[in-house]
Amino acid sequence: MNIILLGPPGAGKGTQAQKLVAERNMVQLSTGDMLRAARTSGTEMGKKVAAVMDAGNLVTDEIVIGLIREQLENGAEGGFIFDGFPRTLPQADALADLLADMGQTLDAVIELRVNDDVLVDRIVNRAEEARAAGQPVRADDNEEALRVRLAAYYKQTSPLIGYYYAKGDLQSVDGLASMDDVAASIAEALS
Ligand code: AMP
Repeated sequence: MNIILLGPPGAGKGTQAQKLVAERNMVQLSTGDMLRAARTSGTEMGKKVAAVMDAGNLVTDEIVIGLIREQLENGAEGGFIFDGFPRTLPQADALADLLADMGQTLDAVIELRVNDDVLVDRIVNRAEEARAAGQPVRADDNEEALRVRLAAYYKQTSPLIGYYYAKGDLQSVDGLASMDDVAASIAEALS
């Protein structure tokens, strides 16, 4: 089973993806994590995307599609969870093509519905918790970058809700519920 977790920054995509990995032996493909890893290891691509990411803008489709293409080659017995990808219509088309080339399908798109006030609080909390634990704080977990990230979500990513609805793939769950309740709603949507 291959699924997409769709929702704005702070909606809980990463948290729910990790639960699915633990429970269903699926493989999480987070383009945000891949891009941060490229920055940490100092690759040319990592250097190229750093400023764009810190400002909260999207990196090019070409770069993220390339990252996903590489990871798909490794395969996944329990299926893939796409977390933070696709974020644009061209990325969605590219994913459909990549899966078709592998003889695979997309089985569900789960939209995590939340409201913006909660997102700001969650992201400010995420930064505070990381700071308190002595862990690095994401450079884009600040109010200014968050505003840009939300604008990017509404402008470039939210059209995917209509795109997948039209294909009959979309399922929406209440992302404001507790972590366990959201997980239960996702499990129901996938059953
Ligand atoms: P995330 O961890 O998913 O919030 O992603 C962090 C940042 O990485 C985003 O704000 C973008 O700059 C970049 N990024 C991650 N995934 C994508 C994507 N699919 N398309 C374009 N940019 C992305």
